[in-house]
Amino acid sequence: MRTFDMIVVGAGIGSGSLVYNLLKLGFKGSVLVVDRLDALAQGPSAFSAGGFRNLWTTSINQQLCSKSIDMLKGYKAEIGVSCGFKQTGYLFTYYAKAWERIPDAAGIWAENGVNFELWKPEQIEAKIPGLKCGIDHMDPDVAEYIEFEPIVGGVFGKDCGAFDPSQAAVGYFEKSAEFANKPAIQLRAEVLKVLFDTKGRAEGVVIKDASGTEETIKGGIVALCSGPWTNQLLERSGVPQDHRMPIICQKRMLFITDFPDQNPKWLEIPMSIIDKGIYFKEEAGNLMIGRAKHDSPDTFDAEFEPDYYVQEVNLLMQERIPSTSVCKLKSGWASFYDTVTDDHNAILGWHEEHSGLLLQVGYSGHGAMESPAAGLCLAELVVTGKYQTIDCSPLRWSRFREKQLVHEKIVI
Ligand SMILES: Cc1cc2nc3c(=O)[nH]c(=O)nc-3n(C[C@H](O)[C@H](O)[C@H](O)COP(=O)(O)OP(=O)(O)OC[C@H]3O[C@@H](n4cnc5c(N)ncnc54)[C@H](O)[C@@H]3O)c2cc1C
Repeated sequence: MRTFDMIVVGAGIGSGSLVYNLLKLGFKGSVLVVDRLDALAQGPSAFSAGGFRNLWTTSINQQLCSKSIDMLKGYKAEIGVSCGFKQTGYLFTYYAKAWERIPDAAGIWAENGVNFELWKPEQIEAKIPGLKCGIDHMDPDVAEYIEFEPIVGGVFGKDCGAFDPSQAAVGYFEKSAEFANKPAIQLRAEVLKVLFDTKGRAEGVVIKDASGTEETIKGGIVALCSGPWTNQLLERSGVPQDHRMPIICQKRMLFITDFPDQNPKWLEIPMSIIDKGIYFKEEAGNLMIGRAKHDSPDTFDAEFEPDYYVQEVNLLMQERIPSTSVCKLKSGWASFYDTVTDDHNAILGWHEEHSGLLLQVGYSGHGAMESPAAGLCLAELVVTGKYQTIDCSPLRWSRFREKQLVHEKIVI
């Protein structure tokens, strides 16, 4: 029977960072990474917008993202390949009522050394070609129906930007191969079950490989980096409901269009968040646009819905940026958020009821930007017995039953 000191389920960016940092910190054990897909980082990590920001309202998110930004900045020098790191900023826009609350958040950001500016409508309009902060250009009935109000201000995060999470994940795995105890990577293999001993300690997995052969593999630690599929796996493993994760799987789509016009400023736009949660950024010379569907159900249906862009997203967007009425859909895709229903934040650390089970799941749509730092912190937990760089214990699994939720106000 094969035996490893650590078995990692999932080969996304969180897994890549965990495995690389583990080996970098001197972990001498053997590591197996298992993913059911046919290449590394082909799950949600491949379909991400890759945005990163340090504008958060909770200390733990702010710390994780600030550290991740530092790590991504130094990624090429350390890992040897680029991960497409681009610090073009993040621009959140606000209506009057929400803008009143910004001074409180700004105080916290200033205390934490976050590099941000508060922008007037003229500055927003100067940055985003064709955007009109007022609503005078709109049909008043339409503006009322769609509940648009004037944009009165913006927060511009200068250190924020975007990168390519799947490239970053692949780089982490490839760099891990330089260590003497390089990880074994098994693709096209489904983890059917996590095995537990009579005391509930994780002691291995059962996998099914591409040929359909089932194999039991012993593991000292089982690390779940399995995104929205985590509860399915735990259920198949016989883990009772109250020991599973408060995670649902929500479909999220991204839409790719041409720029509305030839203005070169489009190439330098920040990740911009406007009315009704519409966000957009530059992506390889195109516009990448996203917007969460209201009340997305818990489903593994990943069907791409072009009509959602045509009939909703674009219609709203062209009210704010009239020139985008010509932005026809070129392509797009759907993938999943592993949304933590209780507080929309990741679950990190040891499972308190199942020793040996390490959790890095439930990123709720901000895992690309948090997992470089989270992987490092979890590696520290394994190698040294405690968190060193950032205390991630606020994101422990037991916070749900202890009612110690981490409520984040800025979630897209
Ligand atoms: C449309 C969209 C836009 C996003 N935009 C952003 C953004 O701008 N910024 C940001 O920070 N985040 C964003 N995210 C979220 C981010 O992409 C994810 O949080 C992050 O990629 C999660 O990475 P992960 O390492 O947890 O694993 P994932 O990428 O979720 O991968 C999990 C892997 O586990 C494997 N797996 C699961 N169960 C099993 C099993 N039983 N056996 C074998 N393999 C298994 C899967 O095949 C998969 O490869 C976005 C996500 C989407 C979908």
